[in-house]
Amino acid sequence: MKVKEYTVPELSEYLESLRSLYDIVRLVAPESCRIIELDHDSYAFGRKCFGCWERSERCKTCTSAMALKTSVAQGKVVIKKTSQFSVYSVPVRLRGANDVVFPCVIEMVTTHRNSIPVTYTDDRQDTLIVPAGSGASGTGADQFATGKTDLLTGLPSWAEFCQTTRDIFIQSPSEPRVIVMTDIWKFGLVNELFGIESGNTILRGMADALRDSGLRYESICRRGSDHFIMSFKSADYSEAKLTDLLMKLSSMFTESVCRIFLQAGVYRANDLTMPLSSMCDRAKLALNAIKEKTKFMISEFDQNMLDRLVHEQHVLSSFRSDLEAGEFQVYLQPQVDREGSIKGAEALVRWIKPDGTIVPPDSFIGILERSCLISDLDRMVWDLAAGYLAAWRNIAGKDFYISVNISPLDFFHIDVISHMENLVRKYGIDKKSLHLEITESFMMSDTEKQLRIADRLMEAGWILEIDDFGKGYSSLGVLKDLNFNTLKIDKSFIDETENQERSRAILESVFEMTKKLRMEVITEGVERKEQVDRLSAMGCKTFQGYYFDRPLPVPDFISKYLSGSEA
Ligand code: C2E
Ligand code: CA
Ligand code: CA
Repeated sequence: MKVKEYTVPELSEYLESLRSLYDIVRLVAPESCRIIELDHDSYAFGRKCFGCWERSERCKTCTSAMALKTSVAQGKVVIKKTSQFSVYSVPVRLRGANDVVFPCVIEMVTTHRNSIPVTYTDDRQDTLIVPAGSGASGTGADQFATGKTDLLTGLPSWAEFCQTTRDIFIQSPSEPRVIVMTDIWKFGLVNELFGIESGNTILRGMADALRDSGLRYESICRRGSDHFIMSFKSADYSEAKLTDLLMKLSSMFTESVCRIFLQAGVYRANDLTMPLSSMCDRAKLALNAIKEKTKFMISEFDQNMLDRLVHEQHVLSSFRSDLEAGEFQVYLQPQVDREGSIKGAEALVRWIKPDGTIVPPDSFIGILERSCLISDLDRMVWDLAAGYLAAWRNIAGKDFYISVNISPLDFFHIDVISHMENLVRKYGIDKKSLHLEITESFMMSDTEKQLRIADRLMEAGWILEIDDFGKGYSSLGVLKDLNFNTLKIDKSFIDETENQERSRAILESVFEMTKKLRMEVITEGVERKEQVDRLSAMGCKTFQGYYFDRPLPVPDFISKYLSGSEA
């Protein structure tokens, strides 16, 4: 496992975010058995860290020491007379002042409390250390949740819910449970449009309705303004009853405020040793999966949701360092005429892990786009492509080009045009040899603005290609309105022409139109000879697809397509 490195402010922020999930979250230096206190930009070694464990056994089974030694996260369950703790230790590296980096460990502790309260004693002073509040800090924004009761609804607070629910779980630990978290769709908008007091009326009404609903939950609370969380014995949970209730609640406020739309995330907990906060997170994850899809009312957690989240976090946490380490490489897929003679190539990125695993772009481009990191990657790809064009000036044909993909998000983060102009200057290449691919969906999303971008690129002399034509909501009207050089017809369009006369007729008219407008066409995803023949008959002169070749590593591309060319 790669141990992640943080600066002091980054780690402070990360620890803060974890505090809503665990009872104790702290940073320790296991070698000196000390807690590391972080304060804005500085850190200090504080008191000894083993205060809450038995002195006699404290180091023998220290998960943090083990995590430090192995560079792998470690967990254990500790049972003391009346209580049970889960400890999870994650090794990290802290970058302090003067760039001094040292290893330390994040300790996350969950207490499964019984009737007798647990005390944490400081080793030196024997004073009581109060844990971070049963994970209660997660409701930070909620001014009504104080102590044991949520003052707005009269329901238990999140802290109280955690304590009660854990106590219930400890009494019947083998009984599976179901955690349900409800959400009011766009509740912020309800507050905005009808006022906070109307929002509060809805929340109070919902709490009352849940209390009177007859649902056989064991515990309930409100959390983070508009979420209600309930824990059920598995045998007492019924999706049908929950659906009925959500439907009833949705129309309950139509007269007094407005009609609302409710959704619920559900997590079936079979292993009750998992921290309760993690169970609730999983219900939330299930909820998030349908948040933008109003046709779904209830969503159950499944492992894929967590895997996706873990993958997303992995991509985000390792992207920058892996980019610097050269793990992102460019593959080139040839674009050829019907005889297979090379015309140009599309640059397609690949993430190649040190063990040789190749991660395809579809599994990280979207994540990088959502987190505004895509332009870092794209700039690297454009730079490499321009560098190849310069280096191959004498071995590739004079019309040889490389097409690069431009993410729609790039236009928001960088000045694409001036970046491209700089590249052309830097490498002394002809700008006509670096083709720019922009997706059709981008061109259609905010037409006026997008058209201006396309016009500026064309006016500046760039070759502009419309990518993925036919994949989304394309229409022939697009061709009329947009100013560009080349249309790249998506694979799905070609697949559909197999047996469907209609699609074929549309495709034929696309070719007719592009001919009249003097635009080039490239068909992508060509996999069979019949496709090449049919498309050729329609007038297609450039093909890209597995029938001819897959995207190739650069050395393979050179030896297959360029090494025979004249110098
Ligand atoms: P795209 O731009 O439409 O690229 C064409 C994709 O179709 C490539 O997938 C290519 O390998 C695949 N393909 C080509 N011929 C065939 C075929 O005959 N059959 C099939 N089944 N597939 C074929 P790839 O390389 O996995 O890229 C997927 C998408 O990721 C690209 O779609 C593009 O949207 C994005 N992408 C790739 N590289 C970059 C990049 O450097 N920057 C950005 N922003 N996006 C990139
Ligand atoms: Ca493309
Ligand atoms: Ca495409």
